[in-house]
Amino acid sequence: MNTSGRHFLQIPGPTNVPDRVLRAMDFPTIDHRGPRFAEIGQQALEGMKRIVKTEKGEVIIYPASGTGAWEAALVNTMSPGDKVLMYETGHFAMLWRKMAERIGLQPIVLEGDWRHGADPNAIEQALRADAGKDIKAVCVVQNETSTGCASRIDEVRKAIDAADHPALLMVDTISSLASIDMRMDEWGVDVVVGGSQKGLMLPPGISFNAVSPKALEVNKAAGLPRSYWDWEDMRGPNAKGFFPYTPATNMLYGLVEAIAMLEEEGLENVFARHDRLAEATRRTVRAWGLELLCQEPRHYSSSLTAVVMPEGHDADAFRDAVLRNFNMSLGAGLSKLAGRVFRIGHLGDFNELSLTGTLSGVEMGLAIAGVPHNKGGTQAALDYLAETSPYREPIK
Ligand code: PLP
Repeated sequence: MNTSGRHFLQIPGPTNVPDRVLRAMDFPTIDHRGPRFAEIGQQALEGMKRIVKTEKGEVIIYPASGTGAWEAALVNTMSPGDKVLMYETGHFAMLWRKMAERIGLQPIVLEGDWRHGADPNAIEQALRADAGKDIKAVCVVQNETSTGCASRIDEVRKAIDAADHPALLMVDTISSLASIDMRMDEWGVDVVVGGSQKGLMLPPGISFNAVSPKALEVNKAAGLPRSYWDWEDMRGPNAKGFFPYTPATNMLYGLVEAIAMLEEEGLENVFARHDRLAEATRRTVRAWGLELLCQEPRHYSSSLTAVVMPEGHDADAFRDAVLRNFNMSLGAGLSKLAGRVFRIGHLGDFNELSLTGTLSGVEMGLAIAGVPHNKGGTQAALDYLAETSPYREPIK
């Protein structure tokens, strides 16, 4: 096992945590009911509003993984037996559905093939067919981490409006937050569900709901039992930068720093960087002669790329060869994709050289594992990245 150099963590989250964020967390934990903490709490809550592009909405931060924020979104807005429309984009959409069932909701699932993002037409039809307006929420995963297909949330919004349906729009942005644009107010998203460990460049441990005024209104009559996740319990203390229970203090230091880094680069530049690195990855995958799992170019994910293994080759044996030989972790195929795909994470604290190092490791791994491919495919990424670098002009 090669353990030299820095480990390449190229799974689609958790992602590499930049030194600046690690240093920001490496401070004494302070009194979470004291005045210094209130400042940090407010900076974190206000900063997250800018990340999801909401002025009207409010942000809630939980000391929990993304799964907790999924549950919070549902229990704060729904009542027992409510119908929720969910789109089967892949593994994570189906886990969210399972959770909805477990907590007493009735998910209506629009089937998908795990190779496309959500189809807005199918959503519109399902909502039009719901004459009694019994569907209380439309739940979509913006970036399906298991497939590398991203759904167009602007189009989902249009579909809901075209059907003239009052359902809430809830969007899982766990692997798209701060990597792919989220315009909460403009797209009329009612609950954004997010996590810390991917585009936000933090370790795992905190997660988010960003909540629209409409969702807050619905919350008043929502009848599912809730305690730890209750938005109302949070909102009072949050108004002054405090929390109703012990927050993840040091994670919040890191969050404030991560938001500062994203804003220094400029959110639009962050998205463009992710788009470019994703395109370079796809060019190389094609040059190797391998197949992208995502079949719809408009749904290509800028956070990760899932690659289909050639018939007769095991993606996990290949990933194991990459880890053993080059100290790099790639993402596994999940549930029905196990062994059939591997996933390259290219999100978060990531640049041209981290990508080309990653692709070189993949290419060498393909050779070692005996996976048929065209040698030199990594060159396609090198060419594209050199041609499209935004810094080609000398500084005057
Ligand atoms: N949703 C998506 C799209 C994810 O990628 C993940 C985790 O990878 C989750 C939900 C679950 O989040 P967590 O593992 O932080 O609970």
